[in-house]
Amino acid sequence: MKRVEASDETQATAFVPLSAPHFRGNEWAYVKECLDTEWVSSVGAYVDRFERELAERVEMPHGVATANGTSALHIALKVAGVEPGDEVPVSSLTFIAPINAIRYLGAVPVFLDSEEATWQMDPEALRAYLEGCDRDEGAVRNRATGRRVRALVPVHILGNPVRMEPVMELAERYGLPVIEDATESLGATYGGRPVGSWGAMSCFSFNGNKLLTCGGGGALLARDEAQACRAKHLTTQAKADPLEYVHDEVGYNYRLTNLQAALACAQLEQIETFLERKRRIAARYREAIRDLPGVQAMPETENARSAWWLFTIRLGEEARLGSRELVASLSARGLQSRPLWQPNHLSPAHRDVVPEGLRLPVSEALFDRCVSLPCSVGLSESDQDRVIEALFELLR
Ligand SMILES: *Cc1c(COP(=O)(O)O)cnc(C)c1O
Repeated sequence: MKRVEASDETQATAFVPLSAPHFRGNEWAYVKECLDTEWVSSVGAYVDRFERELAERVEMPHGVATANGTSALHIALKVAGVEPGDEVPVSSLTFIAPINAIRYLGAVPVFLDSEEATWQMDPEALRAYLEGCDRDEGAVRNRATGRRVRALVPVHILGNPVRMEPVMELAERYGLPVIEDATESLGATYGGRPVGSWGAMSCFSFNGNKLLTCGGGGALLARDEAQACRAKHLTTQAKADPLEYVHDEVGYNYRLTNLQAALACAQLEQIETFLERKRRIAARYREAIRDLPGVQAMPETENARSAWWLFTIRLGEEARLGSRELVASLSARGLQSRPLWQPNHLSPAHRDVVPEGLRLPVSEALFDRCVSLPCSVGLSESDQDRVIEALFELLR
């Protein structure tokens, strides 16, 4: 009897993480097999299997596993032909990785604002930018800067899709390839099609806090076989002759190991369960938050099914606490939460490529007002109730 009380006590104060991994499938068995067979490094049956099965799940013809999501983005941009001095329109409100990848190539990110209705990259902002560009001899050029535009990078943040229909329409009109940063939104669909199957290429991440994780890892999916082969080649030090070690260009060591791929395969087997749990967690939060004045749950894009990766709320101006105060107060109760990322047009890392005084009011407001809540696949209903009760205590 006493012991039950003690464990109830622990239960009530235990730390609840924002987004923790969930290993309840074949992870141990597959990793053990790698160790037993000594196939632990960057070639192996699990790498091939993961590339094939991820591509199948996302309905893209070709998959290339990579060391992480950032390296997948770097290679996708390079394969798309992005060169130093090119402009690449991209969402400003995102984790910094896609912007860094653009910068690795010496290209210039053009930061686009979010839209109120979806919190995602605003296709109207993309339209306005492209209206300032001309098509000449196959190239698209920004009239104001004289720079060539080489690719478009919509980032599907928090599990929810960018409105891809207008984005693809613009991409086709201007003949520009789309590289989807789908790292946060594996499992989401837009217009009935998987996120990551709209563009010429798409990138995924299997970092520790993503829907599926293998510790660290990534993948690039491509529609075109030649582009997939070139991506694989570039991730493998551009080795042209495996015996003589002849390399035909400057390549990268960006491969995923068989050990990581084994974990990733085991995780991918559970994706439908994971998505179902994310949906249930989101539905419970949305239901509860409905009665909390001044608090808005993250939207689901029209004509889309969100993967609900990181469940996020937006505090209204009338809310009793600001986002940072809420994060601190939840933390004092053992509940991990966090604000959204600093929009990249405000980032000290990219200040040198941002037009003087650029303001993107929607992404700045979201940065100021949003908080992501605990939403691990394994989050228990009682832990979720603790979060909901804390929100009511702090905000009502
Ligand atoms: C996680 C993430 C990535 C890739 O991250 P890695 O840690 O390199 O796997 C890229 N873009 C966004 C938006 C992300 O959230």
